[in-house]
Amino acid sequence: MAEPDPNLTTATLLVTGGRPDRTPGAPVSPPLELSSTYVADGPVGYARNGNPTWTAFEDTLGSLEDGRALAFASGMGAIAACLSLVPHAGVVVAPHHAYNGTGGLLAALERQGRLSVRRVDISDTDEVLAALPGAAMLWAESPTNPMLEIADLPTLFERARSHSVFSVCDNTFATPLRQRPLDLGADVVVHSATKYLSGHSDLLLGATVTRDDAAHEQLHEHRTLGGAIPGPMETWLALRGMRTLHLRLERACDNASELAKRLGKHPAVTRLRYPGAGAVIGIEVAGGQAAAERVEQRVSVWTPATSLGGVESLLERRRRHPLEPTTVPVELIRLSVGVEDIEDLWRDLDQALR
Ligand SMILES: *Cc1c(COP(=O)(O)O)cnc(C)c1O
Repeated sequence: MAEPDPNLTTATLLVTGGRPDRTPGAPVSPPLELSSTYVADGPVGYARNGNPTWTAFEDTLGSLEDGRALAFASGMGAIAACLSLVPHAGVVVAPHHAYNGTGGLLAALERQGRLSVRRVDISDTDEVLAALPGAAMLWAESPTNPMLEIADLPTLFERARSHSVFSVCDNTFATPLRQRPLDLGADVVVHSATKYLSGHSDLLLGATVTRDDAAHEQLHEHRTLGGAIPGPMETWLALRGMRTLHLRLERACDNASELAKRLGKHPAVTRLRYPGAGAVIGIEVAGGQAAAERVEQRVSVWTPATSLGGVESLLERRRRHPLEPTTVPVELIRLSVGVEDIEDLWRDLDQALR
C-alpha cells in the first residue's frame, strides 16, 4: 500500500489514503478481501491478526490523526480495549455526561471491582484537575454527548501527563477534521466510526489511534486475543464513506449553524445547546417530555432514531434511554443534522415544534 504524504491536507488524505500501490493493472480502489486464512509464511497468517481491508482504513484514519490506527468491531469495542489498559483497581476520571455506553461500561466494571470511577463535570477544568492525582486514566469527551459541554483539552491532557495519568479522548463528535487530540496531548484517540467517519448509517465500526507504540501493541493484543474484530465489509464501507467526510461535514455544519440561529429564536425552544460549531444541536422544548415526544412523532423529513453523523438528519429525546444520566433534561432533543436541503429541514422541524 502507498505511504501517505505528510504534506497533504486532510481533504486529500481522505481521498488518496489506503489506495493500492500504483502499478500497471492494479485496482484504483482497495479490494474487499474476504479470507479467514492465508498461505503459510506470510505476514498475517490468520485473519484475526490482520486484514488488508482493515489496513487501508487504518492507514487513512491514522494519517488524519497523525498516529497508528486500529479498527474495532464497534466504537464500544474500541472503548473496551482502551479501558483494558487501566491497571487492576485503577481510578478512571470520566465525565458525568460521557457517551452513555461508555458510562454504562465504566459502571459495570466498577460493580465488578475491576476499576473505580471519579465522575467530573468535564467542562469544569478545576474540578477535573483536582480529580487527577492518583488516577490511572483520564477519559475525555468534548463536546460531550448529548449535553455538548466543551472541555479545555490541552490543559487537561498536559496536567494528566504531569501526574502520569494516561489520557484517552473520544473524538467521535469532532472528527479529526475539527479536533486532533493527539496534538493536544492525549495518549489515545477513540472513534465510533459508525458516525461521521463512515457517515451513511449502514454499519458499526470503531477505532483507536495513538503515537504510543506500547499502547498500540496492547490494544492490538486486546483485539487479536479478545477476538471482537471488525468485518472486512464494514471496514471497506467505512473507508468508502470517509472519502467524502470533508464534504459531508462542511454541509452538515453549515446546515446546523443556520438551524441553530433559527431555533434560538423559536418560541417552542426554551434552551438551545450548540457549541458554535459541529453538526449536533441540543434543544429543550416547552411542555416537557410529552411535547418532546410529540416532536418525534410529527417529523417526516427528520427521522426519529438514535445515532448521529450520517447524511440523513436524525433526532431523538435522549432520556428515552434508561442508561442516560438523570441530569440530562427529559425534554432535551438531540438533533444530528444531515446534508439535506436546509429549508426542507427547517420547515419540517418548525411545523413539528408548533
Ligand atoms: C455512538 C458512540 C459511541 C459508541 O460507538 P458504537 O459504534 O455505537 O459502538 C461512542 N462514543 C460516542 C461519542 C458515540 O457517539
